[in-house]
Amino acid sequence: MLIIGNWKMNGSAESLTTFFKTFQESSDAEVQIAVAPPYPYLPSLKAHGASIFMAAQDCSTHAGSGAFTGEVSAQMLADVGCTYVIVGHSERRQYFHETDQTVLTKTQNVLSAGMVPVICIGETLEQRKAGQTQDVLAHQLKLMIQHIAKEARVVIAYEPVWAIGTGLTPENAEIQEGCNFIARTLSDFSDVTVLYGGSVNGDNASEIFGNDAVQGALVGGASLKPHEFQRIIDSAKRRTNFDVNAVS
Ligand code: PEP
Repeated sequence: MLIIGNWKMNGSAESLTTFFKTFQESSDAEVQIAVAPPYPYLPSLKAHGASIFMAAQDCSTHAGSGAFTGEVSAQMLADVGCTYVIVGHSERRQYFHETDQTVLTKTQNVLSAGMVPVICIGETLEQRKAGQTQDVLAHQLKLMIQHIAKEARVVIAYEPVWAIGTGLTPENAEIQEGCNFIARTLSDFSDVTVLYGGSVNGDNASEIFGNDAVQGALVGGASLKPHEFQRIIDSAKRRTNFDVNAVS
């Protein structure tokens, strides 16, 4: 399984040090742990041991280097040791107007730089109520299916928008259905890991990981609290029918 903590625009140099004084988990053959702090803290994360994989929260649509003030390219993230890059998070789509084309370009940049994209997709509450969940997921995957090589290693995070940061989670059957739908839609791809994301915490992680279509989690708020994040990792480690594809 793969558990990625997304710290969003939170934390400080001091809080990162404090976090790792408490957080004692390490990646093993069954569960890989990654943390995505804000860009400035990536090097400090590296200092906390090779067993926590470095993830970035985003990257530029521009590749390499150039006159793009404020941008960070995928190559730069690979250069500082990132393994994963989150792309298409619903907050990027909502607040920064990122389109499926933007997400595809970033995905291509991440893969070209030798890292693994963590592509976030998911429906809004209105779309779910209108019975459009699978159409929305299929639409968000369409460009990827058309333009990404089938042998590329990709992680898809199924994140219902209405479950992010709200404390609300879908029914287990809905999580299973969403993750299975993604796996089926990408059945031509040889190396896909499907995560669930949206209000995962220490209390609900075991139940969520009980769905065999869930190969890990993208965790926001709870990943800022070392004890809580640790409980999520423990739940992942307790799951027996783990998917070895999630670990490389
Ligand atoms: C996220 O931001 O991807 C997320 C899942 O957040 P939270 O766990 O806080 O809902």
